[in-house]
Amino acid sequence: MFDRRERSKDKIDELEYIVRNIPDMVLRVDIRGRITFVNAASILFFEKPPDLIIGQPIEDVVNEEGMVPVDFPLIQRVFKTRQAEIIEGEINSKSGLKKDIEIRILPEPDKNQRNPHLVLLVRDITMRKAAELKVVQAMKQAQESDMLKSAFLANMSHEIRTPLNAIVGFSQIIIDKDIDEEEQQRFFGYIQQNSNQLISLVNDIIDISKLESNQLVIRETMADLKLISAELKSIAETEKNNRDKDHLLVILEEEDLGSGALILADSYRLKQILINLLVNAIKFTPKGYVQFGYKLKDHDTLLFFVRDTGIGIPETRQQEVFQYFHQLENSLNRSNTGTGLGLAICKRLVELMDGSIWIESEPGKGSSFFFTIPYRIASPNA
Ligand code: ADP
Repeated sequence: MFDRRERSKDKIDELEYIVRNIPDMVLRVDIRGRITFVNAASILFFEKPPDLIIGQPIEDVVNEEGMVPVDFPLIQRVFKTRQAEIIEGEINSKSGLKKDIEIRILPEPDKNQRNPHLVLLVRDITMRKAAELKVVQAMKQAQESDMLKSAFLANMSHEIRTPLNAIVGFSQIIIDKDIDEEEQQRFFGYIQQNSNQLISLVNDIIDISKLESNQLVIRETMADLKLISAELKSIAETEKNNRDKDHLLVILEEEDLGSGALILADSYRLKQILINLLVNAIKFTPKGYVQFGYKLKDHDTLLFFVRDTGIGIPETRQQEVFQYFHQLENSLNRSNTGTGLGLAICKRLVELMDGSIWIESEPGKGSSFFFTIPYRIASPNA
């Protein structure tokens, strides 16, 4: 008999040892909602000696620092229904950190109901919540990027189909119809124009895919600013003639940097950005001038500018034009063909070169595009 009592006491000690030391908080509550037992984890969490917790109403202790929806009516309900309840809440730990917790309220088996108790198992689920949030955010991001990709593909298919249809259509007319030479030449012109548009679109798409997959590499070599500007001036002159805008003035304005005009830069990408800005300026300027050039912004920053006296861009739309496929309605007429990719590519290229790009513009008066790159003089002997 004594032996059995001894063994049962051992068992109780063993179980109590386990309960006292498990990392989750364990509390017991009596029928009045007062705490009758806390384990070590609870004492650690509430940072109070057990005698300041034992005998206190559960709602006062857990709600002291947080917003846990544990109250006396809930305790009463579990006593009455004898159904376990699981609730979640937020609590401020004494260290000042916000913690997410899960509380399981379980009725204790008490056959005689003489001394009914509930057990509260309180688990810190902050890490689980953070992981769940991360998964939800990642899923949202994946969905958004999927939608963007689909929209991009739809836009691209449209942009490719338009010039292709023109090429196929005009070639067919030349083959099928008995047309005079003058008309034939006109149609050949359309075919050539649409082929060029297709090539520049394919080039843009190649750049975008390289930029988006972080594979576009900026190759810095010695670049001669004077040489580049002279080349750009002649490209701009040709462009304005091709667009029947002989009346437009193209003005080059360079700061004299002496031997400092030999810089370390990716001249291919630099020219690509400036050509894009110049072609746009010519495209969107019916009369007046297009002025471009460079100057020192400060001793280690070079500023490039392309100004025009064209149709301008309202302030509210100035950020939009740097997004893929964005074209403003007032610029969409037959002579202003484009895809809305150029400026988005320019922005990403400038940023890859550690610079920034911005616009100053007034509708009806003109636009100025500015961008910076780091100014590093290249030594010709290097
Ligand atoms: P694209 O010229 O092929 O349409 P861009 O990305 O180069 O594509 O330009 C996007 C849009 O920004 C243009 O369609 C036009 O609406 C506007 N834009 C660009 N440059 C100018 C400019 N110099 N003056 C007025 N609007 C401009």
